[in-house]
Amino acid sequence: MTDRPLLLLDVDGPLNPYAARLPRLRGYAAHRFHPANWLARQTPGSRRHRRGLRVVLNPSHGRRLVGLPFELAWATTWMHEANEMVGPAIGLPAALPVIEWPELFARDPDGLYWKTRPLLDWAAGRPFAWVDDMITDLDSRHVTAHHDAPALLLRIHPRHGLRERDFTTLTRWAEAL
Ligand SMILES: [Mg+2]
Repeated sequence: MTDRPLLLLDVDGPLNPYAARLPRLRGYAAHRFHPANWLARQTPGSRRHRRGLRVVLNPSHGRRLVGLPFELAWATTWMHEANEMVGPAIGLPAALPVIEWPELFARDPDGLYWKTRPLLDWAAGRPFAWVDDMITDLDSRHVTAHHDAPALLLRIHPRHGLRERDFTTLTRWAEAL
């Protein structure tokens, strides 16, 4: 299985389409979670703090992701809580590897997305696809210049989350390696 490329998963955007226009997205279910990094930014005792973060997830996504020709890993501010909260809600069967960021939301001297450099370090030269709502062309150019293996950076609109076309793109890319 180690010859498979990595699929690095962001939560907010690809799996949780937080900018969806409709309050009830078809196929999605709403959850309330209390992830530590989110709680740390809320006022203790506030209503938001008590109620938790609203997250919408598509319960079919776990099965779809597992069916892709990739090794899955989390690339999200949720870090290990993605395995505890998000994974079970979408039917991901096992604890996935987690990228542990040295610093969340760190400002990059060259304007790169804060995840990009630590993610490249973590991938350690392996082929990877990365789904995230915050990837820019700058990040794509940086990865092309500094990663010696194939990489697919797939920006996912947070209004839509992962769609059929994205699963198709990922499958075709992995099969063409
Ligand atoms: Mg995101």
